[in-house]
Amino acid sequence: MPVPIYDAHHAPGGTLKRLPLLKAAVAFIAMVFLCLCGLLYLQLEQSWRHDLAQAEVNSINLTQAMAQQAEDTFMEADLVLMSLSEWIETLGEGPEQRLRLQKIFARRVLALNQLSGVFLYDKQGQWMVSSFNDSPHGEEVADRDYFRFHQQNASLQVHISPAIRSRANGEWIIPISRRINDQNGDFQGVLMAGIKLAYFDQYFKSFNIDDQGTMFLALSDGTLLARRPFEERQVGASLARGEIFSKYLPEATAGNAMITSIVDGIPRLYGYRQLQAYPLVVAAANSKDAILKGWYSSAYQSSAIVALVLLGVGLFGWVFVHQVRNNERIEADLREAQEALEVIATHDSLTGLANRRLFERSLAIEFSRGARQGSPLGLIMADIDFFKSYNDTYGHVAGDHCLSQVAQALQQCCQRKADLAVRYGGEEFALLLPDTDIHGVLAMAEQVRQSVMARNITHSGSPVGCVTVSLGCYSFVPSGRDSIEVFIERADAALYQAKATGRNRVAALAMETLPEQLQRSDR
Ligand code: GH3
Ligand code: MG
Ligand code: MG
Repeated sequence: MPVPIYDAHHAPGGTLKRLPLLKAAVAFIAMVFLCLCGLLYLQLEQSWRHDLAQAEVNSINLTQAMAQQAEDTFMEADLVLMSLSEWIETLGEGPEQRLRLQKIFARRVLALNQLSGVFLYDKQGQWMVSSFNDSPHGEEVADRDYFRFHQQNASLQVHISPAIRSRANGEWIIPISRRINDQNGDFQGVLMAGIKLAYFDQYFKSFNIDDQGTMFLALSDGTLLARRPFEERQVGASLARGEIFSKYLPEATAGNAMITSIVDGIPRLYGYRQLQAYPLVVAAANSKDAILKGWYSSAYQSSAIVALVLLGVGLFGWVFVHQVRNNERIEADLREAQEALEVIATHDSLTGLANRRLFERSLAIEFSRGARQGSPLGLIMADIDFFKSYNDTYGHVAGDHCLSQVAQALQQCCQRKADLAVRYGGEEFALLLPDTDIHGVLAMAEQVRQSVMARNITHSGSPVGCVTVSLGCYSFVPSGRDSIEVFIERADAALYQAKATGRNRVAALAMETLPEQLQRSDR
């Protein structure tokens, strides 16, 4: 298929710089995806940190309140013990004092909510006086930790022991006790106040912690005193090996720690605090899930919204990319159709050679190029000899076939890219030969003449018995003032000369100026 002359200035979109729309759209959508996901991540990460920091503050406040309450509770009981032990040491606890003491004990218990009872034991651990109305029934407490402690330690400091079940009323109590000495400083007995575990239980319940949260009060050695949720079997259990006592308390007397329970695997944020005045530790914990409950729900909401937006952007992007691809396909089809039309408009349908329209356009271009470069432009006009009679003899269909064969012969002789074979009209052809002087043109014309004869298309009406052509040659260097019509007329005149001098020959305009061998005929 001959290549059409393609003029970029007239081609659709030829001068426009094409933007990489598809790549830009994909990059833009990817950027939107990344930006939205990045923003979502930043926002969620920030609110996660904020919620945890807020929980840490709450936890510190909570343990502060618990520590204060525990300290107050024990201090009040301690003050009672202190004043009573002074009283006993000064006035003694002889039988005459006991009734009085019992009343004072009972008044103190009534005054302090946290107290279950106050008790005085002699040096054998025998019950001497208690806050209860009924007189002591002789049970002894020599086996109790707090009794043994004071028996064996001369210290007059207050002592807090692990929780026990009171033998007086069966209630769970935390014994807080002091040693009583006689005037010689010898062990005379123990004064003990029992602090109700239920008092702490009630206090712990007044706080709002989640179902998986916990609160506890323990001795500094890790012995559990009170706990929410309350479980009787855990009273007195040791927490010494837990992370709070083994890892965090040795480093700081108060703080926060995220600890995953080895029992239930639930991570909790613990706040812990060691009391200053007493060897006690309080701690409270909320489960991480409860702390981040609000965060989870807002994270789900934000993620759902971003997912919806991304879905929308993705859908839009898909439609857009699809549309751009469609447009590109349509454009490619149009370009193809345009090129096909260009071929149809510039070529002859029977022979496939260039038509007169393309010939004239090329002539104009080559004329100005020749004038610009000072190079010769050659033209051959060719006409089939006795073609009327060929048609008459063999019919028009055979005539058309013959025209195609002659056109092929012409086309095959065009070796250079710039050479243009044209069906000029009817059975007339033209060969436009840029940068070719008259010698070159004549040589080419002779080649064409021989090539047509070589095809040996039988023609009974021709004196040589086959189809031949006559060719008129012309070549000149266009000056810019020369007209195209005159150029064609000169080659036409040469053709007329070839016809007039016997056909099946090559002629140039001034035959006498040409070498003799180039005037030869095969006839
Ligand atoms: P000469 O040697 O002087 O050229 O004689 P000629 O018979 O070729 O004379 P002329 O140029 O007058 O004849 C041209 C004929 O070519 C007339 C027409 O029937 C025939 N012709 C022109 N175009 C076509 C075509 O497309 N197909 C066919 N089959 N014949 C054509
Ligand atoms: Mg003719
Ligand atoms: Mg003819």
